[in-house]
Amino acid sequence: MTVTVRFAPSPTGLIHIGNSRTALFNWLFAKKHGGRFILRFDDTDLERSRREYADAIERDLAWLGLVPDRMERQSERLEIYDAAVQRLKDAGLLYPCYETADELDRRRSRARALGRPPVYDRAALRLSDEQKALFEAEGRKPHWRFLLPNFDQDPEQIRRTDESWEDLCRGPQTIDLGSMSDPVLVRENGAYLYTLTSIVDDIDMGITHIIRGEDHVANTAVQLAIFRALGAEPPVFGHHNLLTTADGEGLSKRKGALSIGSLREDGLEPMAVASLAVLTGTSHAVEAVATMDELGDRFDLAGVSRSSAKFDPHELVGLNARLVHAMPFSVVSSRLCDLGIQAEEDFWLTVRENCERVSDAHLYWQIVKGTVEAEVDPEDRDFLVAARRLLPDGPVDASTWKTWTDALKAETGRKGRGLFMPLRRALTGLDHGPDMGALLPFIGQQNILDRLP
Ligand code: GLU
Repeated sequence: MTVTVRFAPSPTGLIHIGNSRTALFNWLFAKKHGGRFILRFDDTDLERSRREYADAIERDLAWLGLVPDRMERQSERLEIYDAAVQRLKDAGLLYPCYETADELDRRRSRARALGRPPVYDRAALRLSDEQKALFEAEGRKPHWRFLLPNFDQDPEQIRRTDESWEDLCRGPQTIDLGSMSDPVLVRENGAYLYTLTSIVDDIDMGITHIIRGEDHVANTAVQLAIFRALGAEPPVFGHHNLLTTADGEGLSKRKGALSIGSLREDGLEPMAVASLAVLTGTSHAVEAVATMDELGDRFDLAGVSRSSAKFDPHELVGLNARLVHAMPFSVVSSRLCDLGIQAEEDFWLTVRENCERVSDAHLYWQIVKGTVEAEVDPEDRDFLVAARRLLPDGPVDASTWKTWTDALKAETGRKGRGLFMPLRRALTGLDHGPDMGALLPFIGQQNILDRLP
């Protein structure tokens, strides 16, 4: 069977780096097994789902290099959910309930006060047809619950029912269905809940592995039962730890925290984001990995740690810098053009190690081609006047800096910082930057002379 996975965001906001961890895990798993990656929008919540978020998610994934083999929207698949609901009703596994939200709240509080778990007591199963008709006559609409298989003959005699699975990340897992409420699968207004639609789609799309965040572990036992009720063999599950910031705070989609879009706009490389998203909280060190293939080599769900995956957003810049420092010209040339940098390879190779982001090259391009405003320290004035006079004649090349500074050293007796720093400041306006010997030919004779007093 072809390995088939899905990333199933609800398009109710932008995806952040934590969501991208789930997407990347699925993508890398599919690649590793020669499988398929489906992007499925869980957009049955019509009030909160927005097409523009779905489009943004698609764009963000493409930026990370994730192009789905198939894309689906749940809002366009309602008929297949209708059929599944009918099937469960026919099997007596989906039953109507008429309690209002307030009534359910009160029952839960009462159960808690009595020291009992706040589990739905299946009172609706005892309703006669007349009682149901009365509720309907009052204008109440039922919501529908799935009857969990946690009893022998009598649904009111709930017993411990262990549902177990071998989790790809967490190892053996067991949850007692006897401690859970029958899940609502259809709301009063007829809307289908994610628990149902997700399973119906997972079956229909032939999903072999469900890889998602550990916030879904508690849903899994219920979902396993629903898979079986719909006559399907459940897929394999893997629940990975969630990314949190260093202080343990989770990332919220709605806060827009560390959204993929904002990281892209910040000039970060997709592989810096992917490296951090994938390697944090695993048995591998977090380092900048240049290609998805190399990242795939390090990816292993069994190596995902059980504790939370803490990260410091500032690490992204460091990872980014390491990628940029080693980036070949062929990879950046068109981006340099877009930045207005008409440079050749040797310019990029000269400046890349001083760039945290590719866009930083623009600063050095300005320095070599534009104007530089630098204040001359009065103490350095005579030195710079001498420098102007001693600049070797002829075109500036790779040897010019050495010849020039040797001559200046001999004449002025300056050395080290006192020799180099005033020149660097006058010629670039900066205290740090690329190797001056390599940069000088790009600045060129005329600019050098213009920047010296
Ligand atoms: N729409 C669900 C979410 O965004 C998907 C969970 C799952 O992968 O089953 O959390």
